[in-house]
Amino acid sequence: MRLAEGIQKHGFRKWYERQLLRSHACMALTFLCGIGVVAAFEGMTRFRDWTDQANNIIAVLICAGIGIWSLRRYLYLLNHAEMVANQAECASCGTYGRLRLVHAPTREGVHVCCAQCDHRWRIDD
Ligand SMILES: [Zn+2]
Repeated sequence: MRLAEGIQKHGFRKWYERQLLRSHACMALTFLCGIGVVAAFEGMTRFRDWTDQANNIIAVLICAGIGIWSLRRYLYLLNHAEMVANQAECASCGTYGRLRLVHAPTREGVHVCCAQCDHRWRIDD
């Protein structure tokens, strides 16, 4: 979910929480794919026939591909959430994470307003 859409629909704190949950779900998927790769390699050590070997090689490739994708997704979601969270503090009153969307996002970023003091600033998205 995009930042502006998330702030408008759920508020910043819920958006941030959801981004962290999504990123950690990707981390769990990466871990499971790692187990799948190891299990498929272990299956290759017990050679029975070429069909089993081909299945194990396909399993390694699929698990490795999904694992790489989910690792990249995990790192992207986590870094993006942290980058936005570092900009979520009001420079005027110091309130953290209580902000409203001012208007639709632009190319420069998302324009927000402090819920406490109405100070406006831009969050780079
Ligand atoms: Zn403020």
